[in-house]
Amino acid sequence: MAFVLGSVFGLVVGQPATALQPLGDIFVNLLSMLIVPIVVFTLLMGARRLSPSNLGKIGGQVVALYALTSAAAVGFGLLVANLIDPGANLELGDAEPQTAEAPDIVEVILGIVPQNPIGAMASGDILPTIFFVIVFGLALALVEQSADSPDIRDGVESFYNLAEAGAEAMFKVVWGVMEYGVIGVFALMAAVFGEAGVDAIVPFALLIATLLIAVLAHIAVVHLGIFVRLLAGQSPIGFLTGGRDALITALSIRSSSGTLPVTMANADDNFHIDEGVYSFSLPLGATINMDGTALYQGVAAIFAANLVGVQLSIAEQVTVVLVAVLASVGAAGVPGTGLIMLTLVLTQLGLPLEVVGFVAGVDPILDRLRTMTNISGDLAVTTVVAKWNDAIDFTRGAWVGESGDTGVA
Ligand code: ASP
Repeated sequence: MAFVLGSVFGLVVGQPATALQPLGDIFVNLLSMLIVPIVVFTLLMGARRLSPSNLGKIGGQVVALYALTSAAAVGFGLLVANLIDPGANLELGDAEPQTAEAPDIVEVILGIVPQNPIGAMASGDILPTIFFVIVFGLALALVEQSADSPDIRDGVESFYNLAEAGAEAMFKVVWGVMEYGVIGVFALMAAVFGEAGVDAIVPFALLIATLLIAVLAHIAVVHLGIFVRLLAGQSPIGFLTGGRDALITALSIRSSSGTLPVTMANADDNFHIDEGVYSFSLPLGATINMDGTALYQGVAAIFAANLVGVQLSIAEQVTVVLVAVLASVGAAGVPGTGLIMLTLVLTQLGLPLEVVGFVAGVDPILDRLRTMTNISGDLAVTTVVAKWNDAIDFTRGAWVGESGDTGVA
């Protein structure tokens, strides 16, 4: 409700609605405040439950499925954009090209190992934080197994108990923040539509519609149909209702990382997934799995080609898939990443970078659809991996829409 009312309020009131922005920024800050503590606490809880070999197995499944869904997403983007042909009726204005640097894959890999773990946490870098906490958690498990002194074993248990209590407390805070989210979401939507206004949006309506159709098709077919229903044997309705807070937060704040506390709370409280799986898969997904962002590259590539009146060959479209999937791995889950990645894709295809400046004005709208799809992908893959590894606790109740007591398909 807040999302819809805020959007309408912004469109009706116009520019003055942007005065509400600070109320929305408080919501974003509150969520950002929770990211590092939730990731650290839940990962330590996860380490208590997982053996190293299980971690390797689950990790492999998570990464493989993330790559698969991202590639499928670009395919969907290209398919729908080829059908709708957005941009064919537009002229490229003299918008300034944006010259932001796309992330370098080698640097991303090097960046996973932090030089200073506290520094990584302090600056909210998720990948190095995950790396350090997993190493620390595995070391704690080894110490507990091998220590002769009961004091040390007790010490390890205290660490785990502290993490467990800390995570519970953080989830309580998440629910409090979500109460405020009603105001936050209203304010954010009012501000964005107040700023953009109808006039700025109309020329790009076909681009927005293409992206909307493509992400909805991808979510319906790949996430809900194939992953949730077929592979995990769960109810798509239950998935949407259980993940609703995370999906709407993503739509409102345009950041997978910022949404992470809510995504984790939904996975735990509504999907009853074990920390051993989601504590690892969701923070990782927030940075390396971006179905919506990858899909957008397909849509935007066709849009850019249409603007300058060229046709992309099949080989060029395959290039888009490869570049988009690789780039989405390296990109951070923050607002506007997808726009920066577009420079990479356009450069690969030899299309004018001015397109980036041209679409920048409506990117705050496109970004919402991308981010929501990114979160849906993280949750869908997490659900499947949890199901495959017996990590959904059906004794905590069946998902909404599930008739069964076991959830086994
Ligand atoms: N804002 C998106 C996210 O955080 C990334 C993007 O710009 O597509 O997931």
